[in-house]
Amino acid sequence: MTLLNILEYPDPRLRTKAESIESFDDRLSSFAKNMFKTMYDAKGIGLAATQVDYHKRLIVLYISDNQDYPMCIINPEIIKKAGKIIYEEGCLSVPGIFEKVDRFKNILVRYCELDGTTVEIEAEGLLAICIQHEIDHLNGKLFVDYLSSLKRSRLKKQIDKLKTSSSETVDTDDLPQKRVI
Ligand code: ZN
Repeated sequence: MTLLNILEYPDPRLRTKAESIESFDDRLSSFAKNMFKTMYDAKGIGLAATQVDYHKRLIVLYISDNQDYPMCIINPEIIKKAGKIIYEEGCLSVPGIFEKVDRFKNILVRYCELDGTTVEIEAEGLLAICIQHEIDHLNGKLFVDYLSSLKRSRLKKQIDKLKTSSSETVDTDDLPQKRVI
């Protein structure tokens, strides 16, 4: 298995719209394995192929609170959506930044599994949030796009600051648990 390189905001490649997957072969399953390895290594709970510069519609997730097994979601489509939920989201492509984003609370998603089987699942809470966040990645959209332009410009400064001080160690033990998607 290989660790893949995660693109970081504002890399323009994160704006690429991913294409549907048509062949469910060994190459695809070994790519999915590398995606899982990369996600676990980065301590994220979700990763979209776009984030590793592979522009096909594939997402991996492992959200132990909701769905206690790893999920590989291919060619996802949201069929129904309802309700509203706000969560402070983080993203492996926007390291160190957490911001509140509005999402649908309940969604019905149709997707293909690694062997090509089509399934439908109802998702709510954190799982629903993650699926919406990752589908946005496949469409070239990032969670920071939901913020006001004022907040976004403040964010750019924050990111620059984080980059220059990345050698410092930060004790995060006292912070509430945050997840990167
Ligand atoms: Zn993300």
